[in-house]
Amino acid sequence: MSVWIETDLCNGCKRCIKACPYDAIEMRGEKAFILERCTSCGSCISVCKQEAVKTDAVPRTIPDFSDWKGIWVFAEQRDGELLRVSLELLGKAKELGGELEQGVSAVILGKGIERLCDTLIRFGADTVHLVENESLRLYRTAAYTKVLARLVQQFRPSVLLMGATHLGRDLAPRLSRRIGVGLTADCTELSIDKTEKILLQTRPAFGGNVMATIANRYSRPQMATVRPGVMKTSEIPGQAGEVVCHDFKVEEKEIGTKVLELVREKKKKTDLSESNIIVAGGRGVGDRKGFVLLEELAELMGGELAGTRVAVEEGWISQDRQVGQTGHSVRPELYVACGISGAIQHRAGMMNSRYVAAINKDPRAPIFQVADWGIVGDLHEVVPEIIKQLKTGSWNKQQRGGGD
Ligand SMILES: Cc1cc2nc3c(=O)[nH]c(=O)nc-3n(C[C@H](O)[C@H](O)[C@H](O)COP(=O)(O)OP(=O)(O)OC[C@H]3O[C@@H](n4cnc5c(N)ncnc54)[C@H](O)[C@@H]3O)c2cc1C
Ligand code: SF4
Ligand code: SF4
Repeated sequence: MSVWIETDLCNGCKRCIKACPYDAIEMRGEKAFILERCTSCGSCISVCKQEAVKTDAVPRTIPDFSDWKGIWVFAEQRDGELLRVSLELLGKAKELGGELEQGVSAVILGKGIERLCDTLIRFGADTVHLVENESLRLYRTAAYTKVLARLVQQFRPSVLLMGATHLGRDLAPRLSRRIGVGLTADCTELSIDKTEKILLQTRPAFGGNVMATIANRYSRPQMATVRPGVMKTSEIPGQAGEVVCHDFKVEEKEIGTKVLELVREKKKKTDLSESNIIVAGGRGVGDRKGFVLLEELAELMGGELAGTRVAVEEGWISQDRQVGQTGHSVRPELYVACGISGAIQHRAGMMNSRYVAAINKDPRAPIFQVADWGIVGDLHEVVPEIIKQLKTGSWNKQQRGGGD
């Protein structure tokens, strides 16, 4: 495609110069002139009221997708247990399906997992596509990709959602490449464009400084991965659904990999996305000893310890406890932020908390903008005081209005 200016039509208004993001137009005499660094992005075409900017590009037409219908959720299971994110996605799929007037399907792969279908139906699936096969018992990229690609080509869903888990982050790009569609990874919000009836997929971009909304007009299915803990589950009592069993054979020689052994990490599993109370610390905590204090507070409150990326980078907490854009998304009842500034990348992971309490010595710290309660002070004084009061019971008395 090339872009040029019909000088006879140009009146020298310079609107195109302002519109060009590449600084590729200059005035020569009274007329606009396009330079070699033009990328043919097309931004200058619509701003020219004289219709002097011309292009040889043929406008792209949107194919007819009327036979691509349904919202599909890839239901992830490990060792026969459903991951919560699959149920969260079904909740969202139900909402999207309602707007599009389309059904919701879950697709689940594995072996000995038939009993999970009832749960998927209860949480929103109208149909469950069940593929059971010994070669699918343990996740292997090639096997899962092959089966899902066949199902997608056969049933033509309009939308396909997966959890942005380790498995989802491996499988989704491979599948999207195989079926030749785009993929929006790590979404934090999904909605439907009311006019075009297409999926709007929102995710943090440019280091989390902006939220970008991406839509896919030209191919189906519209594929997205969604972070665990972002969407709400919704159980639908009495929901009816059907289970469709598929008998796909995947030969070992087509898969190319073998799982020889599963070695599980021995450390205590942290599941922040399931915690009701989270006590999180940031740079202001100062050192590992400071986190021992926060851990004590978390234990007294029956919660989990978490932190910012800084706390992880300093080695004060393990990576699996990081909250934020590149860590976990959490939605506890109470999030206690200690010595955390509240950078947008951190807030992206905790903004769905029901209540936020913040302790920070800087009254202008952005965390206070999202906090329901704020204590301006040194956490090394405030946290020991809270611990003391929790231990003596005086905190509870004060909450009931009977404190001394
Ligand atoms: C692409 C990208 C992804 C990122 N992903 C994440 C992510 O997933 N999670 C994340 O957390 N960050 C992430 N970050 C980093 C993020 O931008 C911030 O740098 C980080 O969250 C800041 O951490 P902090 O609040 O611990 O530290 P700071 O911003 O340095 O804040 C420390 C706060 O502690 C307060 N303080 C200091 N001493 C005390 C005291 N004694 N008592 C009370 N308050 C005190 C200070 O007033 C300050 O507000 C990401 C950045 C990028 C570019
Ligand atoms: S916007 Fe059109 S009329 Fe105005 S300077 Fe550019 S080409 Fe010329
Ligand atoms: S097509 Fe894009 S890059 Fe080229 S001149 Fe116009 S605005 Fe600039």
